[in-house]
Amino acid sequence: MSKGTLYIVTAPSGCGKGTILSQAIEKHGLNLSISATTRAPREGERDGVNYFFKTREEFEEMISQNAFLEYAEFCGNFYGTPKDYVESLLSDGKDVLLEIEVQGAMNVIKMMPEAVSIFILPPSVSELKRRLLKRATEDIETVEQRVSQAKREIPFAKYFDFVIVNGDLDDAIRDFDLCVMAAKFLNKSHRQEIENKILEVLENE
Ligand code: 5GP
Repeated sequence: MSKGTLYIVTAPSGCGKGTILSQAIEKHGLNLSISATTRAPREGERDGVNYFFKTREEFEEMISQNAFLEYAEFCGNFYGTPKDYVESLLSDGKDVLLEIEVQGAMNVIKMMPEAVSIFILPPSVSELKRRLLKRATEDIETVEQRVSQAKREIPFAKYFDFVIVNGDLDDAIRDFDLCVMAAKFLNKSHRQEIENKILEVLENE
């Protein structure tokens, strides 16, 4: 059986990735990897659904057990992708989606060059700030911290396979959909199937 495709999605916080990703997950049957984090749960977030919420000690223990495919520190908290879950789904031929910040994404891109990477840009930094303030899940200081973080993250978009601008949500949903469809024809992510196809074409003279 051929391996599933790993999709890495990075979007600075406030880019409106939630709706885009939930549509893509449903439409393309992608499995969203649930990360572990030391961040405190936001209102309505549940352990094992949004994240596996860990103490710093628990997180460090997981690092020492080599339980993460990648992990990174973001705005003072640790976030990590559970390795076993991702690897077992991929070997079962299932597609997996990682929604992670830029340092982690850059590490996975290097480690797994066959992964398909997508960066979602905000239309502008001012619009990003407006959206973060409207969301009101964080205090003003955290919003400022996340805006500065976004400004550091945005230049890395150039290393991703696909870049989408989320100005209009419907357009961004459509563009994301197109990226996932285009990825099915990318030689790097579907090398085995493409090699098999080449042989099949040549055999049928
Ligand atoms: P939030 O606190 O808003 O849920 O997430 C903050 C940032 O951490 C987001 O950019 C999100 O994509 C990223 N993130 C979530 N899980 C992981 C992970 O497992 N690894 C890394 N590197 N980043 C993550």
